[in-house]
Amino acid sequence: MKIIGLIGGMSWESTVTYYQVINEEVKRRLGGLHSAKIVLYSVEFDEIERYQASGEWDKAAGVLAQAGCALRRAGAQGLVICTNTMHKVAPEVRSAAGLPLLHIVDATAQRLHEAGVRCVALLGTRYTMQQDFYKEPLRQKGFDVLVPQPGDMEEVNRVIFEELCRGDIRESSRRTFVRVLEEMRGRGAQAAILGCTEIGLLLRGGDIDMPLFDTAVIHAESAARWALEE
Ligand code: GLU
Repeated sequence: MKIIGLIGGMSWESTVTYYQVINEEVKRRLGGLHSAKIVLYSVEFDEIERYQASGEWDKAAGVLAQAGCALRRAGAQGLVICTNTMHKVAPEVRSAAGLPLLHIVDATAQRLHEAGVRCVALLGTRYTMQQDFYKEPLRQKGFDVLVPQPGDMEEVNRVIFEELCRGDIRESSRRTFVRVLEEMRGRGAQAAILGCTEIGLLLRGGDIDMPLFDTAVIHAESAARWALEE
């Protein structure tokens, strides 16, 4: 079994999901007392969020690259960045650490393909929804990507940083997210990418009549599969 290096803490609320899902997947596949080999480097999210907000992505990349190098020294054989947004700096982290990096878009796109989805709604931070680092690889893989209207985008972003990343789960925000997804379903979205690792803490499959692809769960399951591959 390979050793997984998690770069977590963005936020720690969703890193919990990764730890749990990776171990559940290893138990499901191997049974008994089997569990995953994991090294976790959990960053200070306040520092990362400040760099995001000020556009200092190079500094954020530096923090994550340092984490990746520390994980390699601790024995990690592959890296998992436990957030969608910080995949903006995934190439820098991969090359600094010199380890394979299991990309969240690759794992998610594979599931979407398997489900036969072509047009997908994307929810995430404003960086993920507005910039190209996330949408472009999806488009290159053949998907049409829809994002919320500008006002809805602001509200989704606000809920992520002011509520979900602080462990604050509100019924009113669940209703907002459902309404935003319904609007995109009306524009042709066949399914939704929960493209922020905390959204799965708010939205569940039964909340809306639309397939939901929870990136935290998908990414964690693919990491477990990778660790068990020969
Ligand atoms: N966890 C979130 C994501 O998946 C947001 C936190 C961040 O800005 O990294 O994008």
